[in-house]
Amino acid sequence: MKIAVLPGDGIGTEIVAEAVKVLKLLDLPLEMESALVGGCAYEAHGHPLPESTLKLAMASDAVLFGAVGDWKYDKLDRPLRPEQAILGLRKNMGLFANFRPAICYEQLVDASSLKPELIAGLDILIIRELTGDIYFGQPRGRRIATDGHFPGAEEAFDTMRYSRPEIERIAHVAFQAAQKRSKRVTSVDKNNVLETSQLWKDVMVEIGQQYPDVALDHMLVDNAAMQLVKAPKKFDVLVTGNMFGDILSDEASMLTGSIGMLPSASLNSKGQGLYEPSHGSAPDIAGKGIANPLATILSAAMMLRFSLNQEAAAQRIEAAVQKVLQQGLRTSDIYSEGTTQVSTVQMGDAVVKAL
Ligand code: NAD
Repeated sequence: MKIAVLPGDGIGTEIVAEAVKVLKLLDLPLEMESALVGGCAYEAHGHPLPESTLKLAMASDAVLFGAVGDWKYDKLDRPLRPEQAILGLRKNMGLFANFRPAICYEQLVDASSLKPELIAGLDILIIRELTGDIYFGQPRGRRIATDGHFPGAEEAFDTMRYSRPEIERIAHVAFQAAQKRSKRVTSVDKNNVLETSQLWKDVMVEIGQQYPDVALDHMLVDNAAMQLVKAPKKFDVLVTGNMFGDILSDEASMLTGSIGMLPSASLNSKGQGLYEPSHGSAPDIAGKGIANPLATILSAAMMLRFSLNQEAAAQRIEAAVQKVLQQGLRTSDIYSEGTTQVSTVQMGDAVVKAL
């Protein structure tokens, strides 16, 4: 089982090191190879996704990814910015389905900004389409500027597009995921104003007919944003396009207390996947040893489940994470009075010990 380990920038290196520690403890034939990605790859090779890194990722069963980016790269031409590495990996590996579970751990109910009764027991799954939509439409403002900057520009544009096959395949993923859960799918769009969304809704209805055991409903994205903070437990599987999914999944992540707790998986049709925490490189806390590594450790568990077919090992890691939370160990982002504050490395060590 070959894993490409791409820690990236900022806290990426700190949190991935803890996940690797956990993976090494499992009695599995895992072959892990590391490579540079993001800003550090740009510094070393002049590109955020060097050919050698992409080759390694493509030849692996799974990619364990940290995070990329730093404000200091904001002045670079857009194609050279660290974040482009993720888009490049998604595109080249054909990663079209992003799974973001938002689970509220009982021990962290008080870390949420919502009332405990609204989020206790929360367990929802946001499925975001990753390869279409406005992020991959017409190049932004090409007629106006080619270097990614628009000083004094009068106009800039991005086109939103989806094709029928793109919507069909993510619909199948969502209905099949719902079959393994509570058999409900909410499809989120903006069909009252966007043609792209009308196509999205029509195709969801069509594909839904092939899954008569799953109930499908539709919600406009502005309402979904509201309902997620008003009554999040009403949702089970929420499926949506690339941009709405980007925003809603971050909103959902905060329901659970900290973005530092949330894993994610991006899968292609062959089961190959990229696994990463839902958060970014957190330059504000990088190098301080205080980042929460649990989202990355839980991403490693998702990797074992979805790409490496190791359900038992995935469950062991998830149980170990539950155990350290029960022991009252908290990194600063989830710390509350009466619990014990620990560093990134101490949290990783505690998971290893619990395993
Ligand atoms: P961010 O997710 O990096 O940080 C947002 C806030 O959450 C910060 O206050 C940060 O300290 C905190 N935080 C994030 N992860 C944490 C963790 N594990 N433990 C404790 N606290 C944590 O988002 P941002 O600040 O908007 O972006 C920073 C950089 O990351 C930017 O360059 C952005 O482009 C990039 N980014 C990368 C990815 C990715 O690699 N997939 C995703 C989002 C943002």
